[in-house]
Amino acid sequence: MLTNEIEFGDRKRVNSGTLFVMVSFHILAVVALFNVTWSAVIVACVLHWMCACWGITMGYHRLHTHRSYRVPKLIEYFFAICGALTLQGGPIFWTAIHRVHHQNSDNEGDPHTPRDGRWWSHMLWILYGEPLHSKTEVMGKYAPDLMKDPFYRYLNDWHWLPLVILGVCLVSVGGLPWLLWGIFLRVVVGLHFTWLVNSATHLWGTRRFETPDDSRNSWWVALLAFGEGWHNNHHAHPTSARHGLGKYEFDVSWVQIKLLERLGLAWDVKLPTSEQLTKKEIFTVSQIQ
Ligand SMILES: [Zn+2]
Ligand SMILES: [Zn+2]
Repeated sequence: MLTNEIEFGDRKRVNSGTLFVMVSFHILAVVALFNVTWSAVIVACVLHWMCACWGITMGYHRLHTHRSYRVPKLIEYFFAICGALTLQGGPIFWTAIHRVHHQNSDNEGDPHTPRDGRWWSHMLWILYGEPLHSKTEVMGKYAPDLMKDPFYRYLNDWHWLPLVILGVCLVSVGGLPWLLWGIFLRVVVGLHFTWLVNSATHLWGTRRFETPDDSRNSWWVALLAFGEGWHNNHHAHPTSARHGLGKYEFDVSWVQIKLLERLGLAWDVKLPTSEQLTKKEIFTVSQIQ
């Protein structure tokens, strides 16, 4: 079992280093609200799209973890750097945690199930136990494909460095408001939107497919998290590049993957077959469009 090998450490003990970073980011995110300029808001929105959508949803999640489509290596690397800019750790850490989540969803060994508490699944799981972000060798057992690539090992070791470099660039060009909005507020908003996928979509919403976990489809999380709210669909068909499988299940990440495919920049795009869809389906809202 993979999970028996992860050493989370004492999960009752708060990790003071991670707590300090998270509290600081949250305080500075509030400070950003009192230092508003239009350019800072635009910078934050553009960076949010790049980092949370291209970096986490299309990158770390659908590309690096589930390999649901393929892109040229340069785009793959670019998405990974965008992912690191979210303060969610490097690609090897993120992929490992998420693969363990799929393997043990809402059971013993799931790093962030709401069965251990709603706040635990949302953010407390990050704050307790030993920090594993920089333990590339340990986490690499669950991401051997990424471990083969020195770029991913390096980025995982130095996952915080792109954020520091970006911060220096932002403050140099746009002053304090760009730093506060482009780094602190954007990162905090991005963290909570991603965390909602771990908490809200394992608690509230509808179930289209029969899965052994508590996953749900949530339209509002899908809107906030670039299509990731169709989480019951995703647990039923983890390798599908498309999560919004129904007619009205808008999935903006899928729209962009489809666009990349049309441009010849994405291939081997995986989708469930109609046979696979009907096999696990509880009710048919509409067939895949
Ligand atoms: Zn899940
Ligand atoms: Zn997943």
